[in-house]
Amino acid sequence: MPTDEVCGVQGCGKEAKRSLSTKKVKEVLPELKLIGEPRRVHLCRDHYKQFRKKTKQERELDRAAWQ
Ligand SMILES: [Zn+2]
Repeated sequence: MPTDEVCGVQGCGKEAKRSLSTKKVKEVLPELKLIGEPRRVHLCRDHYKQFRKKTKQERELDRAAWQ
């Protein structure tokens, strides 16, 4: 993950940590306003945590990276 990417949520601007399908992010977090309509959206750590809280699918996989 290159570090020059920023979070794709409007008004956030933090460094992106994860790249996710925009469709999936909108399904899980419809309240988030994204910048544009890219195929994939980059999320910062905070927004990715929000996303994960709602999905929990990748919790096992990602545990080592986040704790
Ligand atoms: Zn963010």
